[in-house]
Amino acid sequence: MHHPRFDEFIKGLTNVVDTAKNEAEILARAEPLLQALVSKDDWLDDQYAQPHPQYYQQYCLYTCPQERFSVVSFVWGPGQKTPVHDHTVWGIIGMLRGAEVCERFEKQADGSYVSTGVETLQPGMTDCVSPTIGDIHRVSNAYDDQVSISIHVYGADIGTVKRHVYVPDTGEIKEFVSGYADVAAVQRSAGDRA
Ligand code: FE
Repeated sequence: MHHPRFDEFIKGLTNVVDTAKNEAEILARAEPLLQALVSKDDWLDDQYAQPHPQYYQQYCLYTCPQERFSVVSFVWGPGQKTPVHDHTVWGIIGMLRGAEVCERFEKQADGSYVSTGVETLQPGMTDCVSPTIGDIHRVSNAYDDQVSISIHVYGADIGTVKRHVYVPDTGEIKEFVSGYADVAAVQRSAGDRA
């Protein structure tokens, strides 16, 4: 994925990750960069903006050579949502198109997880997650009749990270690795439907 605005963002982010002393400093300096990136919706290639009829899509836009961070476009078809999940590394979410609802969860003494509140992200807005500031949430497209797209930055090659989905009521935890959407396969299936 190349566009002057996106390339500038990657340059800035690389500098932050190279020079920041800790996670708090990375988040504080990187969030405004992502906010600037998603403040204009004119740079994302269409191939990374294609919804799937059944599943939300995660397209890898960039992975830094040392796997210290990755940038992903999340494409939500109408009504699509994630399970309750964690990331295990820092993450920043920037809303590009449409809107999404983020519901955070916290572990209770009995081992279950309860919702601590809901936030709606509108275009240009950002949000952060990490094991130190709260890492467990469920994200949904705010719309039942349109596609929404958010841009995510994570402190690892997130498609390869072992993380977890949660059954909130029982506290049951399952390991998962998200991978990334296969752009060519998505284009083929779009061709089949056309
Ligand atoms: Fe998430």
